[in-house]
Amino acid sequence: MKVLVTGGAGYIGSHVTDMLIDRGYEVVVLDNLYTGHREAVHEKAVFVEADLLDHPAVKQVFDAHKFDGILHFASHTLVGESMEKPWLYLRDNVVAASNLLEEAAEHGVKRFILSSTANLFDDPEKLPIVAEERIVPGSPYGESKYMIERQLYWMDRLYGMASCCLRYFNASGAHPDGHIGEDHTPEYHLIPIILQAALGQREKLTIFGDDYPTPDGTCVRDYVHVMDLAEAHILALEALADGKSRKYNLGNGHGYSIREVLDMARQITGKDIKAESGPRRPGDPATLIADSTRIQEELGWQPEFNQLHQIIETAWNWHKTHPEGYATK
Ligand code: UDP
Repeated sequence: MKVLVTGGAGYIGSHVTDMLIDRGYEVVVLDNLYTGHREAVHEKAVFVEADLLDHPAVKQVFDAHKFDGILHFASHTLVGESMEKPWLYLRDNVVAASNLLEEAAEHGVKRFILSSTANLFDDPEKLPIVAEERIVPGSPYGESKYMIERQLYWMDRLYGMASCCLRYFNASGAHPDGHIGEDHTPEYHLIPIILQAALGQREKLTIFGDDYPTPDGTCVRDYVHVMDLAEAHILALEALADGKSRKYNLGNGHGYSIREVLDMARQITGKDIKAESGPRRPGDPATLIADSTRIQEELGWQPEFNQLHQIIETAWNWHKTHPEGYATK
């Protein structure tokens, strides 16, 4: 099978590309390298540097290759940024997906996997959050993913394109052999920031709010390992052979507070990581925990790295061997 991975030079896309190639897929990666890294892309993948907003460039890729499926990661992905620059999300994320979907439909592609998000569930009626929970996007970022999910609904109805929307909770960890991992500049995510503090690259962690209605007052999140996410993408791609569209939540069903993550990181790194409390970050819900029963039952997904220590150990292994990320010599 030949697949197109957009955003295959990014954090999650590069881990999925790696696993696809290991499983014998032919992979074409399309990435504009705004936030991705050329070094993160598996050497056996065909690499195309292009922007999805450049519609003629997208068409060229489809004219040159016949794809059996598409995995769409390329996107602006920051909740906080989307509150300040909404059009990067409400316009650019949506137009990028539209260009991709128009060409995919035109070229008869029948399987499509979307990186979606727990930010669809800003106001859940119950926790853990089930796949059928009502959708209340928490930011222009979440809204942009929802708008793409709606485009996919129409692609299915009009062109028989089956899709799978994977709503990730907190993607984290790194490839266990340490050759790829998370590298954002600037870094906004909790675990890499804690590990940068452990490496002495930052003075301390600022905890964004300690007065939430949670056991220790800090936000609770469901951290899910990037390798388990990658496995879910491959299961979903295979399952779409039956032509049925689906939506799944992806997490471990267990939440950890910021203080619990910090304590585990102190244990694993053996470093005394400094932390202080600061104000809340706009847009952060107190608790996000996934109920992933649906994908477990329907596709047999079983997360292998479902313990917090495994997530932090693999992330630490990446960060300490690549203190400057992919720029490390
Ligand atoms: N967080 C924090 N300090 C930081 C970065 C993140 O306290 O320097 C908190 C953030 O407010 C959230 C949690 O850690 O409650 C996870 O944040 P992250 O950005 O990693 O993922 P998100 O939950 O936003 O997808």
